Amino acid sequence: MSSYGLGIDIGGTQLRAALVAADGTIVERDRRPTPADDPTTLVRTLSQLIEALRERADQPLPVGIGMAGLVTGDGVVRYGPNIGVRDLPLAAALHEAVGGRVVVANDASVAALGEQRAGAGSAVKDLILVTIGTGVGGGLVVGGRLLTGASGFAGEVGHVVVAEHGRPCPCGNRGCLEAYASGSAIGALARDRLVDPATVTSLRDLDHVAGPDVTAAARSGDRVAVEVLEEAGGWLGVAMASMVNVLDPQLILLGGGAAEAAAPWMLAPTRRTMAAHLVGSAWREPPPVELAVLGDDAGVVGAGLLALEPATASGSEQDA
Ligand SMILES: [Zn+2]
Repeated sequence: MSSYGLGIDIGGTQLRAALVAADGTIVERDRRPTPADDPTTLVRTLSQLIEALRERADQPLPVGIGMAGLVTGDGVVRYGPNIGVRDLPLAAALHEAVGGRVVVANDASVAALGEQRAGAGSAVKDLILVTIGTGVGGGLVVGGRLLTGASGFAGEVGHVVVAEHGRPCPCGNRGCLEAYASGSAIGALARDRLVDPATVTSLRDLDHVAGPDVTAAARSGDRVAVEVLEEAGGWLGVAMASMVNVLDPQLILLGGGAAEAAAPWMLAPTRRTMAAHLVGSAWREPPPVELAVLGDDAGVVGAGLLALEPATASGSEQDA
């Protein structure tokens, strides 16, 4: 059995790869630009990346891959929104190209595994990771194992419905958490507040208010910006209450750039609102809500560790 897993995080702009030891330590890194909208070039570039790292490690490394979107149990990326991929049999194509074990899972799911094994969740077996960036992703670790569901699609925390008939979500539905607490949603919530001419805020001076503008304004003490982030935090708390009622995790982690930037204003309302909506809230302690710690490395670390999991582990794969 290999002592290292090769973890790859397929991002919208970069393919990040790392050689990951069983304790989650990164011992080697590499990266390539993500080829845009071309599955054939994507598979070829990934193959080159895998072969380069296997050569340096001088051993047949199992490969784990995290990618945004819906990844099925047999390694087909049904829908990869970042790079316009549809129905790509990624695990099979890479297994054919480079051989060995290839496991593919959703990017936020593998990040959750990374945080649980080697990050902010290393002391617990059950956690929910919510990643907040342009959108909202999520991953679930239950009993120390990644929960991917019957089809591989579990963990889409961003599409927990918090308001039926609510704000439109990029997924096509309405009222999803992503429409209230993503970086994009924070910008949209702020723009809505500008409709009232009586609202006094520094955001009014900007052409098009986006999420980072809101956190920047909150840092300068803008009251409206702070209220928007508190509102987003409250919606996150609503979604987390449902998640905790179903899964009873030990810990909730928030990761992603927008979460880090907005945490000073979002965390308290998230915790408060979640606690208020838990079943039997007078008789239990709500799980802590904390920031993740692995940052951009969570994906490669989790993907590398997923590759090292026993073959019965959940996640889509092609074995040697
Ligand atoms: Zn949605």
